[in-house]
Amino acid sequence: MTALNFRIGQGYDVHAFGPGDHLMLGGVRVAHTQGVLAHSDGDVVLHTLCDAMLGALALGDIGQHFPPSDPRWKGADSAQFLQHCDALLRERGWRLGNADITVICERPKVGPHAMAIRERLAQLLDTELDCISVKATTSEKLGFTGRGEGIAAQAVVLLQRL
Ligand code: MG
Repeated sequence: MTALNFRIGQGYDVHAFGPGDHLMLGGVRVAHTQGVLAHSDGDVVLHTLCDAMLGALALGDIGQHFPPSDPRWKGADSAQFLQHCDALLRERGWRLGNADITVICERPKVGPHAMAIRERLAQLLDTELDCISVKATTSEKLGFTGRGEGIAAQAVVLLQRL
């Protein structure tokens, strides 16, 4: 049997809104009337991307690698989680082909920050801007995101064998 040269992974993450004046989205600080409830910095974009990368490698999920019960990760910059996942895939002989991320919330408006988020993710992953897509949608006022109770993000990644 020939070894596969590609792997696919998907991720999903949610955080509830809470007190605060900004969100971290893909390593970018976005001013908002609320923050998120989280043990780390609650960056849904980075968390979903980590889960997609771990999923592609069949290496579990972000909660197993960075347990919320571990005081080391209290208030942690989630960029370090992403860089850990990136190191895991490189060690195993893979590179990120591309990533496609969707952020779901009514507010804040993510579109105006999408380019900054793409640039930051490309920098963190040492890859090209056109390998990273960041899209945004609302859920048409339906469900928890529609009621403005929280923010969700989904990601799909393709890994390519080095
Ligand atoms: Mg999370």
